[in-house]
Amino acid sequence: MPEKEMLQLSPSRISDYQQCPALYKYRAIDKMVERPGLDALRGSLVHLILEQIFKNAPSDRDFTKAVSLTNECWQELVKLEPELICALDDKIPFPLTESVEISQERLNVLFEEVKTLIANYYALEDPSRIQPKSTEELIEFDLSDDLKIKGYVDRIDESPQGWLRINDYKTGKSPKENFSSKAMFQLKFYALVIFKSTKEIPKLLRLIYLKDSQILTYEPTEQELDLTLKKVEALASQIQRSKETNDWPTNITKLCDYCYFKSICPAFTKA
Ligand code: SF4
Repeated sequence: MPEKEMLQLSPSRISDYQQCPALYKYRAIDKMVERPGLDALRGSLVHLILEQIFKNAPSDRDFTKAVSLTNECWQELVKLEPELICALDDKIPFPLTESVEISQERLNVLFEEVKTLIANYYALEDPSRIQPKSTEELIEFDLSDDLKIKGYVDRIDESPQGWLRINDYKTGKSPKENFSSKAMFQLKFYALVIFKSTKEIPKLLRLIYLKDSQILTYEPTEQELDLTLKKVEALASQIQRSKETNDWPTNITKLCDYCYFKSICPAFTKA
């Protein structure tokens, strides 16, 4: 019997499966590439600037310095992922087959939007007063021989007493109250990975929304992390079952209008 492949779960893969198993298959099993969107591009650029600013000495982390990093971060991003420029103009063919000229006007609009988001960040925090333990750290833990939980954490802070604070930047708006617990799942998942690897429960989880300068916080408990573990294990079993039976049902929702795979999705292409 062939060895069962280890399932690697991150919050985004879990969210894909919960939204629609077929979407999960396109992304995680078939590894199909998607045309990048403008929101994702803006988010990647802001995340990189906020990562870079913490590499400077605390006295060199002011707003002007952060904004001045925009162009070099942009150059770094497109060097790593040239196809990101497709997000700037629908007319740029995807996948990229040749180098294309980027309109300076569109780039200026992007940089202005990024500047606003960075200004909103500075309205919430003063990075010169924060010394992160890590930024963009890959955290992972093998729950069993079949299941790894992992993710990249935007920023982990450590207080002088050794308490951990997990931070995640969101370039969108903060969710309405009834959706905030769904949004917090990602950070509970990270807290679970840290708890399993270090036996330490992070003291505070923070979702930092840059569009409307809001911070959602949560203090996890061991009981809460146990519930998160049960949820993750239950979802992992469902995904393993889908893999074994090759059954990836579609789930039609309003989100299908934003799904890159709609044009090939059986739910929309069946006669
Ligand atoms: S279009 Fe909708 S149903 Fe089809 S794969 Fe995407 S999310 Fe799933």
